[in-house]
Amino acid sequence: MQIIHAKQALTPTGWMADVEICINEAGRIDSVQRQERRCDQSVDLALPAPANLHSHTFQRAMGGLTERRGPRGHDSFWSWRKIMYQFLDQLTPEDVQSIAALAFMEMMEAGYGSVAEFHYLHHAPRGLPYQRLSEMTERIIEAAQAVGIGLVHLPVLYQFGGCDRRQLEGGQQRFGCSVEQFGYLLEEARASVAQAPSDFSIGVAPHSLRAVDSRGLQACIELAGDGPIHMHLAEQLAEVDEVLEHLGSRPIEWLLASLPVDTRWCLVHCTQMTAEETIGLAKTGAVVGLCPITESSLGDGIFAGVAYTEHGGAMGVGSDSNIHVAYFEELCTLEYSQRLRDKARVRLATADASVGRYLIEKTTRGGHQAIGRDAGYLAEGAQADILGIATDNRWLCHRRGDMVLDSLVFSGHSSNCVSDVWSAGRHQIKDGRHVRHDQIVSAFQSTMARLTQDGFR
Ligand SMILES: [Zn+2]
Repeated sequence: MQIIHAKQALTPTGWMADVEICINEAGRIDSVQRQERRCDQSVDLALPAPANLHSHTFQRAMGGLTERRGPRGHDSFWSWRKIMYQFLDQLTPEDVQSIAALAFMEMMEAGYGSVAEFHYLHHAPRGLPYQRLSEMTERIIEAAQAVGIGLVHLPVLYQFGGCDRRQLEGGQQRFGCSVEQFGYLLEEARASVAQAPSDFSIGVAPHSLRAVDSRGLQACIELAGDGPIHMHLAEQLAEVDEVLEHLGSRPIEWLLASLPVDTRWCLVHCTQMTAEETIGLAKTGAVVGLCPITESSLGDGIFAGVAYTEHGGAMGVGSDSNIHVAYFEELCTLEYSQRLRDKARVRLATADASVGRYLIEKTTRGGHQAIGRDAGYLAEGAQADILGIATDNRWLCHRRGDMVLDSLVFSGHSSNCVSDVWSAGRHQIKDGRHVRHDQIVSAFQSTMARLTQDGFR
């Protein structure tokens, strides 16, 4: 049994002062009660640790490699994607594991207790399968286990290079699976996760409407069972045009009319929505997975956040390209995008909850729904995913209640205020650093030295 004392804690019934949180051997919260007496482990502020609902860990190694103008000066998501395909074509399973470990460590240091890894880098270069089909999947599971972050691994079905069903080319060939091959991969992935900690699980991810046909989508829905189903959707204007041309309607419009979208689904990005699509999607109960820092980096567009939340839509956030892993900054970027569009302040809030309070509670709830993890609330029975925040510093100045949350979201340097993170009771962040920080960083640096030496750009 571990006992944590918090000077203040955000619980399902609101703020509580002087709280004792007990964690049992199964990594779940046993009790949350008032207790003035301090114990060994103490934090200034306890929050439920958020879930990172969308990540491609290997892209962490590309940060800073895609910011120069291309020859034609029309730099876009599509020219970025070309560089991404070139970059990933050199990665070995060892590289993928050490990069994933670094990204997972940075997620925990930013306050996340769990992550959904949207994993499409399955095969060796030119699409040759590894001896074990799930080689890369196992590397991701091992990295998560070494870091101690809760993992929902999402093997991706990627069949085609576009809606016209063109063949995969270059780096893309490493993603490709037939529906049958994907079934085997998923079976192997489930067997690997059965050996991992009991809070690890498997979902499925049809990549997008560009990369998967309707047979592939149906197969994913069947293979998912009760687990989560994640898909990229309506991120780019050219994607909307392509889907419109080949499927006869816009991506979200097509999805809502064609598939049984419900609370198991997480639709990632949705930065291209009409007013009707916004309302329709909000009513399904599915979670929209927003990645505001990556969406800004790629020039995706602005999510219709105000209309979507007014209609009761669920949402969470993800670090996606991992160019900068910072939970509170994701929320700040999201809110600021709404302000810039509307030329107004305080957009994502309610009469009772400030922006910080509203976005932290909403994305914590939505994130855990999206990854099917029984966490995101500090109460008996929940998975013990707990985020400890230090308030005795120049950014938070011992503030209390909702004002601390607003300071975390808007005042910058919020990652420096993360003091502790527990994931399913695993206490991996202490005094703001991961317990294996130096080891993980040095393995990553060796990988990067070799990749750079081997001549990427
Ligand atoms: Zn993505």
